[in-house]
Amino acid sequence: MNHSTPESMSSFWMPFTNNRDFKAQPRMLVSAKGMYYQDTEGKDILDGAAGLWCVPCGHGQPKIVAAVSEMVGRLDYAPAFQMGHPAAFELAERLMDYTGRKFGQVFYTNSGSEAVDTALKIALAYHKARGEGSRTRLIGRERGYHGVGFGGLSVGGIGNNRKAFGPLLPGADHLPHTHNLLKNAFSRGEPDFGVELADELERLVALHDASTIAAVIVEPVSGSTGVLIPPKGYLKRLREICTKHGILLIFDEVITGFGRLATPFAADYFDVEPDMMTTAKGITNGTVPMGAVFSKAFIHDAFMDAPPGIELAHGYTYSGHPLACAASLATLEVFEEQGIVAHARTMQPYWEEAAHSLRGLPHVIDIRTIGIMAGIELAAIPGKPGARALAVFKKAFADGILVRVTGDIVALSPPLVLEKKHIDELFGRLAEVLRHLD
Ligand code: PLP
Repeated sequence: MNHSTPESMSSFWMPFTNNRDFKAQPRMLVSAKGMYYQDTEGKDILDGAAGLWCVPCGHGQPKIVAAVSEMVGRLDYAPAFQMGHPAAFELAERLMDYTGRKFGQVFYTNSGSEAVDTALKIALAYHKARGEGSRTRLIGRERGYHGVGFGGLSVGGIGNNRKAFGPLLPGADHLPHTHNLLKNAFSRGEPDFGVELADELERLVALHDASTIAAVIVEPVSGSTGVLIPPKGYLKRLREICTKHGILLIFDEVITGFGRLATPFAADYFDVEPDMMTTAKGITNGTVPMGAVFSKAFIHDAFMDAPPGIELAHGYTYSGHPLACAASLATLEVFEEQGIVAHARTMQPYWEEAAHSLRGLPHVIDIRTIGIMAGIELAAIPGKPGARALAVFKKAFADGILVRVTGDIVALSPPLVLEKKHIDELFGRLAEVLRHLD
């Protein structure tokens, strides 16, 4: 295996990347341990983003590495259509335990995008199974990210991701986003203003009629568009309106699931029970691709009264892949044995203080924090949206910290095994980058 920069980079068409820019000035990661990556020169890079929000337990957890190695030697693959393997069933039980038994079933996918499309399909098929086939509309939210499948794109609210791909799914509509810098800047936890934005759902119900709406999907905290935290009471009100009109509520917890808010799920943090949750990323600590839809039992059970046969015509070759199941079972053990969520909770006040200490630095117009997440919003360079944050990303990487940027927002979400020294290093270096930005 080559551990240096490859001689040719032309054949790999990189995802969500400025390919020409990257290939002119590559950033290569060749190994990872704990809180750090190493680059081709062997330099440590502090992981301020948990990879891509997906490594809550830190890199190279021995138990996960051992579990995946053992499984690949024993059962490299097993089909999940009309047959099974024990780890898939065992994992489903452990995942239900991890939610405190608030959900009844789990449907495996390979990614967050597939989890979202699966949940949307389940919502449509659920209503049809109950004789309400007119419920075909799906409602997302502006600035929501739900992956890149046609379902997720249709309910997603990022114009740049949608514009090249035609009309998308018919019947999708969107709630307004809740981001309000004028009223909520520099908030800690849920901001004070904006609960009434949930009432926009009533407006959509009045427009389309509840009998045409299958589901509402939101990220409890929007991650990919820059850590947009819901106003106090907003998610509870969405829940109430969905319940009132028989609309399923789906939380997309691909980022927020598995400890990011220092609770097992965002649903726990906000004390709101969705009907389905989509998850991925942290479910295997990022080691093996896996996604999962958590469903309330009443949804699953609505399919079980159908005439004998396949109840839901949906699934993937790799649904419940043995390696992913082994990785996820080991991840859940690591969460429990190492008290990862409780540790995140003890680190949270220090994290919050450190993040807000960047207030007053050049270009910083907002800082928002929740759990072990922070969004640091910068003033855009006039006429060059995104350029300032991209410069931060590149300079930070060169200075040994990995951050994620979106638009002109720096989004931070390190592994939850972080200690105070990592928080100091992350914000200390980021502050230097901001101070010396052109
Ligand atoms: N949903 C949310 C909230 C996400 O943040 C992401 C990815 O970042 C996805 C869905 C898509 O997940 P994937 O990239 O695994 O398809």
